[in-house]
Amino acid sequence: MDEAALKKKVRQHAETARLLGVDFVPRYRRRGAAANSAEAMVANEPAAAVLARPTVPESPSLAWAAAPALPAPAKPPVAPTLGLEALRVEKAKRLDELRQRYEKEAPHRNFVTAHTKVVWGDGDPHARLVFVGEAPGEEEDRQGIPFVGRSGELLNKAIIALGLKREDVYICNVLKTRPPDNAKPTDREVEACYPYLLAQLAIVAPSAIVVLGASALKALLKSDDSITRVRGTWKELALPDGTRIPVMPTFHPAYVLRNHTPEIRGQVWMDIKKAAKRSSEGSSTP
Ligand code: URA
Repeated sequence: MDEAALKKKVRQHAETARLLGVDFVPRYRRRGAAANSAEAMVANEPAAAVLARPTVPESPSLAWAAAPALPAPAKPPVAPTLGLEALRVEKAKRLDELRQRYEKEAPHRNFVTAHTKVVWGDGDPHARLVFVGEAPGEEEDRQGIPFVGRSGELLNKAIIALGLKREDVYICNVLKTRPPDNAKPTDREVEACYPYLLAQLAIVAPSAIVVLGASALKALLKSDDSITRVRGTWKELALPDGTRIPVMPTFHPAYVLRNHTPEIRGQVWMDIKKAAKRSSEGSSTP
């Protein structure tokens, strides 16, 4: 990339970060030879946190963690040590199989939806950081991709401000189909879709999850805690195979759009920054 293009990117990044109330410049770990001057400009800024893309260790284990209501499919034949790319491909395949199973069993058949498409998930199947929202909206239903409407734009900005790309994280929802009038998911709807969500998260097996908003928090952790009270504090999701994944609750982007104050934006930024840091540090605990 030439110097002018790089400078433009740095300016855009700084502007995005400023909009999100960011008060520091993320520093990227350098790869390879000497950086040009624009890269050096970023790297030399005092950084409150280093949010480099995590180095993910190879994992020998790909145990399928089936959710309670789903009979466990045969364990995929997995070589004892898979390279990172092979692991990613394997997880993509298993996510795809799970999606096909969801579409075949169609748990949403049992409730009223306004959907035209199943909105399954988006991003890196081997992401260290996962965002879980409530349910697809109109635009998500149109494109079949989670968080692509206004809330998604804000989420994208936050991801970029972390020094990541949308392709580096994984994004999904509790419900995979759009509820009529974007209504809050009912307990019955959540119950029907929950096993697929758990199986989805078990395959990705991230090191941290950000749960977006009260409704997703209630669904994911079976918690009636007020989001205002628990945001910013670590919770834990226990998967059926015993794996525990740290969960960071924060406000839903739609709430941030409606309450666009520096205080709310700053709180959300702190929460996702914590989650990104944790995701870059460690693995979930089996
Ligand atoms: N809100 C959500 O919770 N999920 C989406 O995918 C979009 C908006």
